[in-house]
Amino acid sequence: MNRPEFWTVAAAASPLLSYFLGRFNRWAGLSAGAALFAFASFMLAGEIAAGAPYVALALWTGAALAHSVSLNGGAGSSPDRSGLEKALRRAARLEAELSLIKTEATLNAAGEKKSLAVYSAVRLLSDTVEPQSAAKQLGRYLSDYFETDEAALYMAGSSPGGGEMELFAQGARGAALPGYSGLLALAGGFPAEALAVSGLVLAPVSAGGEALGLIALRGGTQGAESAGRFAAEISFALKRVILFRQVELLSLTDGLTGLWRRSALDEKIREELRRAAAFKTTLGFMIADIDHFKRLNDAYGHQFGDAVLRRVAQLLKEGVYETDFVGRYGGEEFGIVLPRADSAGLLRKAETIRARIEAENFSQGLEKVRLTVSIGIAHFPRDGRAPGELVGRADAALYAAKEGGRNRVVDAGNL
Ligand code: GH3
Ligand code: MG
Ligand code: MG
Repeated sequence: MNRPEFWTVAAAASPLLSYFLGRFNRWAGLSAGAALFAFASFMLAGEIAAGAPYVALALWTGAALAHSVSLNGGAGSSPDRSGLEKALRRAARLEAELSLIKTEATLNAAGEKKSLAVYSAVRLLSDTVEPQSAAKQLGRYLSDYFETDEAALYMAGSSPGGGEMELFAQGARGAALPGYSGLLALAGGFPAEALAVSGLVLAPVSAGGEALGLIALRGGTQGAESAGRFAAEISFALKRVILFRQVELLSLTDGLTGLWRRSALDEKIREELRRAAAFKTTLGFMIADIDHFKRLNDAYGHQFGDAVLRRVAQLLKEGVYETDFVGRYGGEEFGIVLPRADSAGLLRKAETIRARIEAENFSQGLEKVRLTVSIGIAHFPRDGRAPGELVGRADAALYAAKEGGRNRVVDAGNL
């Protein structure tokens, strides 16, 4: 290679020197590139004087040098450090945002849980026709809302205008609270508004100036103000429950199933026994109790339990003569009085009823739920002459049916 060509290439390559050296420090790179270009130009002075196209080379090199500096932008001010700092700042910002979102989400979840608890409580009280069975669930809603198991709701008695309020629902540790009179003593009488006293929060539930209930709680995160809000939310629903109970007490039939209430059924037994004794006829009595009903309530909820009770009541009524008397004896226990039934016919009828209920599909959504009943039967005059005696014998037979493995009929005559 002759010398002018070498120096022309060197001049043209000076931006490359500037670029690569500039990776470490862009100004040092530029200086080195510019120095190389100047030196090459000096060595080419003869050629330039002879008319070589030097201006084009100089323009190209100048532009390329400038470009090499801009490519290396930031070089010389320790690029790695500043990038790291930027990344750290960004991470810190993201973390702050994330923790803000987390706090908001927690607050929302807590608020949502509360709204759900109060909504569920109101719905439960507004829907239930069987306050006793709803009470346990209501206890859970109280605990959810106040975030303590030491929570209780007292309700005005069924007799209008006073007396001590009765415990209606409570959380898992509600029993640890002072009793109703103890609470009033602490508060210095029935509180006119929600208050905090001796580590307890008390909130009256009232509607139209009438005291309907009292909420008591200890611990948790909610103060008197929040308890007062809860009390206000449930007041009308609670009023409904109280009215419902008053009406029920006065009525002869059970609100849930439409069957005779226990007291009314007992009256029928006395009446029919007197008649049977007078006309020398017979009478059958059976008690049917749903097997493991508690499990069903626990698995599907009390509302489904109530629907099942209604359906069972209907099947029982359809299973006997219209002149027979079907009553609800207790929670999931039914009594049936069958005037003029003979003992063999009574057993057959009980067996038919048992099989009918066993075959029934109680659907809950898409699921098919099955259940069974145990039945005890007693016969007049064979098993006793007094009403109490006859019911007692049927009860003993029912107990034997449960003991024997459930889903069966036991005749007191075989005990
Ligand atoms: P067993 O086979 O021994 O009879 O078991 P069980 O679970 O049926 O009997 P237990 O007497 O222990 O429980 C009866 C349950 O019936 C208790 C309660 O959860 C439920 N129950 C009682 N009354 C009502 C009601 O009116 N509605 C609803 N949904 N459930 C009720
Ligand atoms: Mg039962
Ligand atoms: Mg029972």
